Amino acid sequence: MSKQNTEELAEQSLRNSGMYRVPVAIEVLANKLNLTTQAAELGDNVSGVLVVENGRGAIAYNSDHAVVRQRFTIAHEIAHYLLHVEKNREPQLFIDKYVAFRSDTDSSSGSEQDEVDANKLGAALLIPGTLVLEQIKKHQLDLDDDEDVTLLAKQFQVSVIAMTHRLTNLRLLR
Ligand SMILES: [Zn+2]
Repeated sequence: MSKQNTEELAEQSLRNSGMYRVPVAIEVLANKLNLTTQAAELGDNVSGVLVVENGRGAIAYNSDHAVVRQRFTIAHEIAHYLLHVEKNREPQLFIDKYVAFRSDTDSSSGSEQDEVDANKLGAALLIPGTLVLEQIKKHQLDLDDDEDVTLLAKQFQVSVIAMTHRLTNLRLLR
């Protein structure tokens, strides 16, 4: 999926749901897309699960994880729902052992590509490019200043590492 398409799909999904604001209410977005969300005991090795059946979906996210990580997991599962659920083949199950932000340049093949695409769209849903630019301008943030990047991460309720990767992919950070 091209970079431009990913950004457009994220922005369109957020705007259509009335969720195009900071911080993105990612659980509400899921609900508006007909997906339920629930914290669950998924053990040490699973971040999130998406189950789709009869046109409805359910996301479970690891109850032991930090909120910023849970938000990223939910965004990732929403991305699978938007990108990879085949409407005529049900039920479908996605199990994500480890969801983490990866940069656009990471190599991948086969179903790994689905994970890369889900991570990219997930990041674009949580940290929409246009809203990042708006926040930087509004608060006159200096991205060379670690404190300002941390502040930006707080505003979007994401981890500093996720924000740093996203800023890099948006070519706002070197
Ligand atoms: Zn995944």
